[in-house]
Amino acid sequence: MNLHWHRRDLRVADNRALAESVADGESVLPVFVFDPQILDHASPPRVAVMLDALEALRSDYRELGGDLLVTRGDPREELPRLADEYDADAVFWNRDYSGLAAERDSEVRLALDDAGVSRAAYHDELLHEPGTIRTNEGEHYSVFTYFWKKWRDREKDAPFDAPEAGRVVGSERIAASDGATDLPTLADLGFEEPEADVPPAGTEAACDRLREFCEETIFEYAEDRDYPAKDATSRLSVHLKWGTIGVREVWEATAEAAERADGDPDEEGSEAESVEEYQSQLAWREFYAHVLSARPDVVTRNYREYENDIDWRDDDEALRAWKEGRTGYPIVDAAMRQLREEAWMHNRLRMVVASFLTKDLLLDWREGYDWFRERLADHDTANDTGGWQWAASTGTDAQPYFRVFNPMTQGERYDPDAEFIREYVPELADASAEEVHGWHELDPDEREAIAPDYPAPVVDHAERREAAIAMFEDARGDD
Ligand SMILES: Cc1cc2nc3c(=O)[nH]c(=O)nc-3n(C[C@H](O)[C@H](O)[C@H](O)COP(=O)(O)OP(=O)(O)OC[C@H]3O[C@@H](n4cnc5c(N)ncnc54)[C@H](O)[C@@H]3O)c2cc1C
Repeated sequence: MNLHWHRRDLRVADNRALAESVADGESVLPVFVFDPQILDHASPPRVAVMLDALEALRSDYRELGGDLLVTRGDPREELPRLADEYDADAVFWNRDYSGLAAERDSEVRLALDDAGVSRAAYHDELLHEPGTIRTNEGEHYSVFTYFWKKWRDREKDAPFDAPEAGRVVGSERIAASDGATDLPTLADLGFEEPEADVPPAGTEAACDRLREFCEETIFEYAEDRDYPAKDATSRLSVHLKWGTIGVREVWEATAEAAERADGDPDEEGSEAESVEEYQSQLAWREFYAHVLSARPDVVTRNYREYENDIDWRDDDEALRAWKEGRTGYPIVDAAMRQLREEAWMHNRLRMVVASFLTKDLLLDWREGYDWFRERLADHDTANDTGGWQWAASTGTDAQPYFRVFNPMTQGERYDPDAEFIREYVPELADASAEEVHGWHELDPDEREAIAPDYPAPVVDHAERREAAIAMFEDARGDD
C-alpha cells in the first residue's frame, strides 16, 4: 500500500501521482496534512475554498469505497509517522513549484529518507514542467511570445484515470480513534469567515464550469474576455489553483472545442482564433510558473532591476482608499469591491487596479500584491507576482514604464454602459454612463447632486502620470 499526499491537487481524476500510486495493482491511502507553517501564509477566502474542496474530495473517495485521512502537523514528522503506522511502502505526491512548498518538499524527502521510506514525486500541476522549455541558451524564457510558440507546439499528455473503486483504502483501515477523517472548521484553524462569498469548490463544480464554458463561451472569448459585465471567461482560476481539476483535462476540453470551431487560428475573429486565445492564457499560467521556479526571489524583488531604486511613495490614506474601493475612479472602485465581495476579480480589472496603485498612487507593487494575496481565493504566487510586476513595469515582458493605463478610458472602453460599475458601486446607481465616465471632470456641486456619497477622485490622473514617468526615469538614471 502507498500513501498519496494531497496538496494543491484536491481531486481524484487526472492526478498523475495518484494514478502512479495505484499502478501495478497497489492500493492507496490518501492523506492531507494541515501544515501550520503553510497556514501561517494563508487567508480566510483561500482556506474556506480549500476546506470545501477537501470535503468534496473526501466524498469522491467515499464513492470509490475509500476515505481521506486528515492530520495536522509538520509533514516532515507526519508523513514518516503515518508511513510507519500504516505500514506503507512509499509516499507519492505531485510537485509544487512555489518557493515555500518547494523548500518543504526537499525537507520531507530527507525526512522520509532518514526514516527509510520510499518516495516518488511527479510533475502534474502544469502541462510542461519548469526547466523543460528553455531558450537556445538554456535559460528560462522572459518573453512570453517565444515561450508560447514552443509551449503550444509541444505534445500534451492525456488526462489520467481516477483510481478504480476498491483501490482506495477505506475507513475500516484508517484508525478510528484519531477521528482521522474529520475535517476542521475555519475557526478550528484560527481563521474568521471570509468577507466574500467564495465560489463553489470541488471537482464537480470545476467540471461543470469547464463543460459550460467550452460549449459556447470559448468561441467568443477573444472578443468578449475584456468586458467585465459579460460572463465571458472560464473562472477556472480557483480550480486550477487548488487542483480541483487537472490541467490535462482542461487542455483536452479546449482541444475538442478547437476541433468544433469554425475557421483557422490565424483568421481574425474566427472561433478557432478564440479557442487559441484561451489556450494562450493557460500558457501564461505556465510561463509565470517557469519564471518563479527559475527566480524564486520575484516574490519580493523586482524581476527587472533598474539602475536606482524606484522611489515608491508611502501613503496609507491612498492605500486604504484603494483597498476600500473609494478612490473616486469608478472602474477602479468597482473592481476593488468585486474583489471584496467575490474573492475574485476580472483580469482586465486586475491590470487596471494594479496600474492605478503603482502609476497613479505611486505605491509599491508589493502593497498591492499583499492585498491580493489576502483577498483572492485564486491567489497563486507565480501568477500574482507575474501580474503585479507586469503592471508595475518591473516584470518579465512588462508594460513599458511610460505606458500608464488611463482609468477613465479603460472604464469607457470596457464598461461603456457603466453596467458593471453601477452593479458594484451602488452610490452611482442613478448616474448616467456619461456622468460615471466623466466623474473626474464634474465640479463638486454636480457630484454632490448626482452621487453625494461617492468620493471625488483622490488624485489627478494627468498629474500622476507625469509623476510616474519621472519616478521611473529617475530609477533608470536618465538625465
Ligand atoms: C495584478 C494581477 C494579479 C493576478 N493574480 C492572479 C492570481 O493570483 N492567480 C491567478 O490564477 N491569476 C492571477 N492573475 C491572472 C488573471 O487575472 C486570472 O488568472 C484570471 O482573471 C482568472 O479568471 P478566469 O479563470 O476566468 O480566467 P480565464 O480568462 O478564463 O483564463 C483561463 C486560465 O488561464 C490562466 N490565466 C489567465 N490569464 C492569466 C494571466 N494573465 N497570467 C497567468 N495566468 C492566467 C488562469 O489559470 C485562468 O484560470 C493576475 C493578473 C494580474 C494582472
